[in-house]
Amino acid sequence: MTADYTIVDHTYDVVVVGAGGAGLRATLGMAEKGLSTACVTKVFPTRSHTVAAQGGMSAALGNMGEDSWQWHMYDTVKGSDWLGDQDAIEYMCREAVPAVIELEHSGVPFSRTDEGTIYQRPFGGMTTHFGKGTAQRTCAAADRTGHAILHTLYQRSLAEKAEFFIEYFALDLIMEDGECRGIVAWELATGTLHRFRAQQVVLATGGYGRSYFSCTSAHTCTGDGNGMVLRAGLPLQDMEFVQFHPTGIYGAGCLITEGVRGEGGYLTNSEGERFMERYAPNAKDLASRDVVSRAMTIEIREGRGVGANSDHIHLNLQHLGPEVINERLPGIAESARIFAGVDVTKEPIPVIPTVHYNMGGIQTNYRGEVVTLDGDDPDAVVPGLMAIGEAACVSVHGANRLGSNSLLDIVVFGRAAAIRAAELIEPGATQRPLREGSSDWIIERFDRLRHADGGTSTSELRDRMQATMQANAAVFRTEELLAEGSEKMNEIYRAFADVRVADRSLIWNTDLVETLELENLLGCAVTTVDSALNRKESRGGHAREDYADRDDDNWMKHTLCWVDPENGGTRIDYRPVHMYTLTDEVETIPPKQRVY
Ligand SMILES: Cc1cc2nc3c(=O)[nH]c(=O)nc-3n(C[C@H](O)[C@H](O)[C@H](O)COP(=O)(O)OP(=O)(O)OC[C@H]3O[C@@H](n4cnc5c(N)ncnc54)[C@H](O)[C@@H]3O)c2cc1C
Repeated sequence: MTADYTIVDHTYDVVVVGAGGAGLRATLGMAEKGLSTACVTKVFPTRSHTVAAQGGMSAALGNMGEDSWQWHMYDTVKGSDWLGDQDAIEYMCREAVPAVIELEHSGVPFSRTDEGTIYQRPFGGMTTHFGKGTAQRTCAAADRTGHAILHTLYQRSLAEKAEFFIEYFALDLIMEDGECRGIVAWELATGTLHRFRAQQVVLATGGYGRSYFSCTSAHTCTGDGNGMVLRAGLPLQDMEFVQFHPTGIYGAGCLITEGVRGEGGYLTNSEGERFMERYAPNAKDLASRDVVSRAMTIEIREGRGVGANSDHIHLNLQHLGPEVINERLPGIAESARIFAGVDVTKEPIPVIPTVHYNMGGIQTNYRGEVVTLDGDDPDAVVPGLMAIGEAACVSVHGANRLGSNSLLDIVVFGRAAAIRAAELIEPGATQRPLREGSSDWIIERFDRLRHADGGTSTSELRDRMQATMQANAAVFRTEELLAEGSEKMNEIYRAFADVRVADRSLIWNTDLVETLELENLLGCAVTTVDSALNRKESRGGHAREDYADRDDDNWMKHTLCWVDPENGGTRIDYRPVHMYTLTDEVETIPPKQRVY
């Protein structure tokens, strides 16, 4: 049957799937190290979701006041609610400094201080002196930092002669005896299939915000790499931790950066009260995102929301004045005008907590290598496979990511993957032939979905999934809500067997693209809700009303969740949190209760 399709074979040292900040930083690093590198992406590189990142990228440069990477590490461990791996966090915060300087030298047009150094703004949870002062740590290019980084990395990758396969949809991983040997991708413009053989495959496919109804992420954030990993029989880690950003525009979901509060913006309820002063007397509006999102949800639930239905909150920045707004937050002013009809120099923006980031994903070590539980070994490397960026779970964000730590994560670990690949790979080394038939199942699955003739349309199933996730796995969670969510999501997962694709063509078949994406989203959704039902404590982004406290004795461990491809049932196991550091330049940060 595979004879029906035209299959083009390629061989590279490395194939990177994804051209967001993570994929491009890895691609650039690999190409610079002399590895032949293919970057496969379903959208044009500079349209990846990274382009939308506004606020900035953290690094303890100390350009605008004292700072140290040890303080940054402390904040990140605390922000992670002690679920982050401390070796990886140490690596990220230390390497942040050279990683940002490299970006600057590559040409990223950062905003500047009067002295000509990189401008840095305060961001939620970023402190000095281990929680005592406010850090100005977030490096910004106005409020378009992701845009600036992405364009620079793409241009630099082209200069280094990386090869791009643009608008190619990666379908699945070619696995042989537990080793990743390559991928199969579908070229959307011609309908041909492409089989890439490589010494390393790097998944940099981004998050899965689109499994929820309201999210800040692009329509392309559909967890494709996560879906591929599940189909390869590997688990996903910490999927219960989903970050809600406090300030999505009410109705549209588009993001209003935390940088607005960093610049002095604040939230008010229907009584005009700056209520964050009650919930977080020290950090106030810049408390970490889970804290602010929950506070807003409580205000709304207790009847102090604004608007006709009392169902949202006001974000005020009028007092900053047009000058600061035009210089530092021009993109926000534009988004608020277009999506909320608001002139931010005169009136507040209507906002609501909205799904923003996935802490969970493909488990890796700090070098970017995918690891899995193998007998007694919780850190067994999966040969040939790496994962970076939002698709991965290193885990530096643990139970909750601090704002501006993701642009940092994608750059630092994109770079780390390239460093590691250069150690592991001999450029141009001969690769043994792929085993006969090892990619047949991928083509059979593609063909089956292309001809899917069931009774339920892709959009109908997607609506059901998004509504269920929004209602049953949101900011506040209870056993009852999650158990109902699990039952519904598992049923929707199984209902995919009855999906219907109307368009049978091979060229720009968006119906089929959406169906492939839906299957990936379903794997993410079912592991999210089942992992959430399983975790009987509150930690970071996972807030259970019925288990209000963090329970370090029983739950300071990473969840691993597998999906049975046949019936959608999940299986759960655990990996220990790394409570050790890489060097003696810093000590581990023991768990303690959080004080805001
Ligand atoms: C609106 C918004 C604002 C944000 N602001 C900030 C901020 O200020 N600071 C911060 O630190 N973080 C911010 N974040 C988070 C951060 O931007 C993201 O986590 C990060 O950019 C993700 O980068 P990535 O490279 O992992 O994935 P993405 O940028 O999402 O890229 C994914 C890539 O994978 C490719 N891909 C996916 N599936 C396939 C497939 N099947 N086949 C081929 N290619 C595929 C896509 O084409 C794309 O190139 C923001 C996020 C959002 C949504």
